[in-house]
Amino acid sequence: MTDLTNPAIDRDPSAREKLGHDVFARGVTPAGVLRPTSIEALSAGIRAAAKQGLAIVPRGGGMSYTGGYVADRDDALVIDMAGMNRILAINQTDMTVTVEAGCTWSALYEALHPQGLRTPLWGTLSGIKAAIGGGASQNGTFWGARNGTIADSVLSYRVVLADGAVMDTGKSFFRGFGPDLTGLFGGDCGALAVKAHVTLPLIREAEAFAYGSFAFDTPADYCAAMSEIARCGLAMESFGFDPFLQAQRMRRDSLAADAKSLVTMMKAQGGFWRAIKEGAKVVTAGRSFLDEAKFSIHCLAEARTRAAADEDMRRIAAIVAANNGREVENTIPKVLRANPFPPVNSMVGPDGGRWLPVHGIVPHSRALQTIEALVALFEANEAEMERLAIGAGYMFLTVGATGFLIEPCFYWPDELWGLHTESVESAHLAKLNRYPPNPEARALVERLRKGVIDVISALDGVHFQIGRTYPLEQRSDPRAWRLLKALKAELDPQGLMNPGVLGL
Ligand SMILES: Cc1cc2nc3c(=O)[nH]c(=O)nc-3n(C[C@H](O)[C@H](O)[C@H](O)COP(=O)(O)OP(=O)(O)OC[C@H]3O[C@@H](n4cnc5c(N)ncnc54)[C@H](O)[C@@H]3O)c2cc1C
Repeated sequence: MTDLTNPAIDRDPSAREKLGHDVFARGVTPAGVLRPTSIEALSAGIRAAAKQGLAIVPRGGGMSYTGGYVADRDDALVIDMAGMNRILAINQTDMTVTVEAGCTWSALYEALHPQGLRTPLWGTLSGIKAAIGGGASQNGTFWGARNGTIADSVLSYRVVLADGAVMDTGKSFFRGFGPDLTGLFGGDCGALAVKAHVTLPLIREAEAFAYGSFAFDTPADYCAAMSEIARCGLAMESFGFDPFLQAQRMRRDSLAADAKSLVTMMKAQGGFWRAIKEGAKVVTAGRSFLDEAKFSIHCLAEARTRAAADEDMRRIAAIVAANNGREVENTIPKVLRANPFPPVNSMVGPDGGRWLPVHGIVPHSRALQTIEALVALFEANEAEMERLAIGAGYMFLTVGATGFLIEPCFYWPDELWGLHTESVESAHLAKLNRYPPNPEARALVERLRKGVIDVISALDGVHFQIGRTYPLEQRSDPRAWRLLKALKAELDPQGLMNPGVLGL
């Protein structure tokens, strides 16, 4: 019989109900919520929960949509890491920073940026809410994507194991020391332990930036250019959209807000008049400049000197020209860099309704083939998608020199849940339509998501955010899978750590 009498556990039904779903998946309402504010409280809470046989489900910012923190049994204790959000040490001598795992990317940026510092991978676009521990646990990328993924850039973790014991996965200043135990915990979605502290390397912020936006008519030219820019390592971030997603972005964001954040950034990067001029340019260019474009790439180059940043952008433009692309107004990358962690309003559709991304990372040699297979999938379902008003568009991003990330996003009219209404800005929410529950459309979106995953699997692509959604076992070498199961059994013999996640 489960005992939940620990006074530190919140059993309030509405608090628990809120944690029964993520951005897309709905699971079982957990039995309780623990909100530790220190590693000692986290360790004591896990030890007590393990004695009671409770499942332990860690939650960071709650910004995921693959069922990673959505329990499938009712005796689960959600560990809400939001209260462990301190920056513990910024060490400018050793160039490391240690944070509690619930610290958001945005809070870390606010602390490091004034000191001219950042981490190599410095956050996801959800970073105003998403936590560093959540990002490391399901892996991901965006800001600093040329440097790879979040899990790649961690130096070490201090974790709490299923029996409450505390363990360091390595040394805090250097990751390479024998077999890579830190790497084992990256992307584990909380199946192996709860991350309490995360240590990341620091690097100096760049001093000069250059921005470029480019348009292409065909996916073949688009992929060729995007891949070559990544292979040459010319952009710190290189991302893009297809026309559908481009249109959704344009509809969502307000032009005035664009101009304002841009002025703030330009002021920070020096020059009041340049700031005013750039702000005015955004307003004049409006959001029509990409209307005719079929596919867009947005690049941000950074360097120590203006000449070096401009030279990288000149080389990017040459790659674009060699692949039949054309330069367009570079508003999007400028605006995004000016406000790197915007409110998470894109968690819902631009007119209300729902949003669900699904993604795969493929090698450059298979990017075009993947896009063509996805287009065929959507064409085969076109009539049903149209009947149920389901829209689909693509986001693209290169990761390091080797990864081409393709992310179809679905939009459809459907009810919003508590997480959506709490996370989206209230002024934005007030402007949106509200829809009744739409289980028929949601079911088709689930089938389409499965179809996308099958396409990516057939092309041997990989995924972040495995959660309870992407099939890891079927895609792993059987020996590697047995090793992972053995590791899980060693670390969590009772199978209490986020059971079911990763398929474990
Ligand atoms: C608007 C929006 C924009 C987004 N942009 C991006 C983007 O640019 N790039 C990207 O990669 N993703 C993006 N995402 C997806 C998601 O926000 C990120 O993947 C993010 O890293 C999730 O972090 P989180 O703290 O919210 O994790 P959560 O959703 O809380 O948890 C994710 C997983 O990690 C586990 N977990 C959480 N904390 C811990 C811990 N301390 N120890 C062990 N396990 C833990 C959970 O159990 C769960 O399995 C976006 C999502 C939204 C809604």
